[in-house]
Amino acid sequence: MFESLQERLGSILNGLTGRGALSEADVSAALREVRRALIEADVALEVVRSFTDRVREKAVGAEVLKSIKPGQMVVKIVHDELVAMLGSDGEVIDLNAPAPVVIMMVGLQGSGKTTTSGKIAKRLSERQGKKVLMASLDTRRPAAQEQLRQIGEQTGIATLPVVAGQSPVEIAKRAVQAGRLGGHDVVILDTAGRTHIDEPLMIEMADIRKVSDPHEILLVADSLTGQDAVNLARSFDERVGVTGLVLTRMDGDGRGGAALSMRAVTGKPVKLIGTGEKMDALEEFHPKRIADRILG
Ligand code: GDP
Repeated sequence: MFESLQERLGSILNGLTGRGALSEADVSAALREVRRALIEADVALEVVRSFTDRVREKAVGAEVLKSIKPGQMVVKIVHDELVAMLGSDGEVIDLNAPAPVVIMMVGLQGSGKTTTSGKIAKRLSERQGKKVLMASLDTRRPAAQEQLRQIGEQTGIATLPVVAGQSPVEIAKRAVQAGRLGGHDVVILDTAGRTHIDEPLMIEMADIRKVSDPHEILLVADSLTGQDAVNLARSFDERVGVTGLVLTRMDGDGRGGAALSMRAVTGKPVKLIGTGEKMDALEEFHPKRIADRILG
């Protein structure tokens, strides 16, 4: 599909073999290709810029080792820098707080919040023996509460019974209380999304946070989100305070640039990735794999 970065750099840099250090001009030529590769992988422009600046600093003046081609060397610098920026391997959901530990799921409509709530609940229940309660706080779409109930039924995870007419904040309070009374270890709050970030959404998220005191606030985002990833991550982080990221639809054709964009603007770890519609399709995040995928 795409020419790999290695191939692209090979053709412009490999004539330099044996010439000593990489010059400013060599690096600039290489970075044009790096920029193209990142943009094709859907990395947001502002992040592309800061990333290439970092690579430039590392690459200019670097000695070209006799044993490897200059193109390979730049690819290695780019790859290492990408892995460093993407964060560490095997981040986990932090449950180190008094029960019930509240996990608040936030994100835009359709990003995969409800599905991911079910996947996380199932995983915590099966792998860590946790007793989990899920609650849908989406009162705008009546089908949303029913969707979570069905996921609960399918996975064997308890869901908070729906009480008509309650506000999201009231449901959040009731969920935490039910979690406490029912001896649940974890309460997952599946909040409502919107098609776009707007002020009422941010106010609602902040209010829910206030009454439920979540230990984890996971921003769920479609891995195919392009330039919007930066805005999305920044808004949710500034207004609600995100503790981790979950990228969904990593099973698709996308190259996962949103992982880099969102991690770069928030500094928050990618904790999990969604790799399908089934309830088991949730995986740990491995920066090296995503770096390979971004570079193609
Ligand atoms: P919400 O509006 O944020 O709660 O989003 P949903 O959980 O309802 O998900 C929207 C759609 O995306 C559903 O059809 C899900 O099955 C699908 N979906 C969620 N996560 C993934 C994923 O990782 N891969 C794929 N292929 N589909 C997903």
